[in-house]
Amino acid sequence: LWTMVLEYLEGEVSRPALESWIKTALPEELTPEKFVLRTPHSFARNWLFKYYYHRLKEVVAEILGYTVEVQILTAQQLDSNAVEMPEDVYGHKDIILLSDDTPTEITAAGANNLVRAGNSNSNGSDRQDSPSATNASNGSNSNGVRTGKINPKYTFSRFVVGATNRMAHAAALAVAESPGREFNPLFLCGGVGLGKTHLMQAIAHYRLEISTDQKIFYVSTEQFTNDLISAIRQDSMQAFREHYRDVDMILVDDIQFIEGKEYTQEEFFHTFNTLYESGKQIILASDRPPAQIPRLQERLCSRFSMGLIADVQVPDLETRMAILQKKAEYENLRIPSEVIHYIAASYTSNIRELEGALVRAVTYISISGLPMTVDNVSPVLNAPKEPVEIAPAQVVDLVAAYFEVEAEAMRGSSRKRTISLARQVAMFLMRQHTSLSLPKIGDELGGKDHTTVMYSCDKIAQQQEKDPEMAQALREISDRIYHIAKEGD
Ligand code: ADP
Ligand code: MG
Repeated sequence: LWTMVLEYLEGEVSRPALESWIKTALPEELTPEKFVLRTPHSFARNWLFKYYYHRLKEVVAEILGYTVEVQILTAQQLDSNAVEMPEDVYGHKDIILLSDDTPTEITAAGANNLVRAGNSNSNGSDRQDSPSATNASNGSNSNGVRTGKINPKYTFSRFVVGATNRMAHAAALAVAESPGREFNPLFLCGGVGLGKTHLMQAIAHYRLEISTDQKIFYVSTEQFTNDLISAIRQDSMQAFREHYRDVDMILVDDIQFIEGKEYTQEEFFHTFNTLYESGKQIILASDRPPAQIPRLQERLCSRFSMGLIADVQVPDLETRMAILQKKAEYENLRIPSEVIHYIAASYTSNIRELEGALVRAVTYISISGLPMTVDNVSPVLNAPKEPVEIAPAQVVDLVAAYFEVEAEAMRGSSRKRTISLARQVAMFLMRQHTSLSLPKIGDELGGKDHTTVMYSCDKIAQQQEKDPEMAQALREISDRIYHIAKEGD
């Protein structure tokens, strides 16, 4: 079970945090009522408790199919059942309400599931993955209609507007004010962690504030696909279609994952048309514009593009500082501006990481009792990378050698798997190790567009987190890059 939980969290938690504070915890006990984790020291326990308790519980419940109590103990605490809550510095008061969730009744199938620890796909009976059963805490209204998991913090008031997201913000606001009018569909695109989901959910919150009687549907593309698959399996297509077509507004996140899924595309095409024709607002988010989503049916591509495509880009320093400041204000934290500045300057390309860094700094300071200064927080932040001196062509050569492809082919337009992978890795490494701008990196690879470079870097960064083989490849090539840079070769 713990391995499964770790897998779930891998994509959500920054790597250092995962390695140092989550992976060091060991599962101690699993009974039908509770799951007990043991951490090596209280620092790790407090951290887990403060920031991941809620999520842990959610993930465990997701895997098991029912809710259990989750206890996090330190090594010394094993025989005591009392888990005292650390001082709440970060507003997560809700997590104290342990007893609020009565564990659901455990059926024979459930107990079986427990033993198999999350082997859930083959088990449709007790696992709640049918559309109507996935109501989020705030997701179910009196009609029993699911609105998906909307984060209560993702509102317009918490969204900081800067030069790189101004247009997306304005479009989202316009759609929230008068849905189904001008911008339909609204297609939000941009790199990972830049606020697409936040903006899209802000629209939903805005509408729900006006009236909770509307059916507003927030769903990930994955969820749509899963719902479709179980509808097919359970022979309930009719219900599926009613479910998705009888809404006032639909928000589909990460629509790029629809690539290559023919059947999902087919079904979504009809969902789209039905809603569109009855004037219902459709909002889509993707890491790329429609035209750059590979294996997307032409007719879907043209529908996705017929409203407004608004992009969010990497925010400038000032905006990043404003984001940190706003977060600090909401969480009632007093943080010296030099620390805000330092963090904002260290994390340039992903707001989620930027926020993660702030959280780490605050946790560390609150637990260590040190004053909040740049010197004291810098050890828990990832140091910004120092660019090394290496010719871009050498990076291409190294990557070509590693993947056993021709450097020239990487500069060409071949879409062969290994070649395009090598190309993306080269872009990523140039971004990491040189100070070349995105367009310049594109030039080094035969004149690729800077958005392609951006997309490639994001993709490889994600793979680095998830795929050990990729992480290994990047490490090895990076080592050679450092070596060459040092030798001045
Ligand atoms: P995406 O969906 O583009 O990957 P998210 O919407 O999940 O990114 O944003 C990542 C994190 O950054 C979220 O916690 C979000 O609240 C925060 N964030 C992104 N943009 C802004 C912004 N302009 N102002 C405040 N917070 C932001
Ligand atoms: Mg998102």
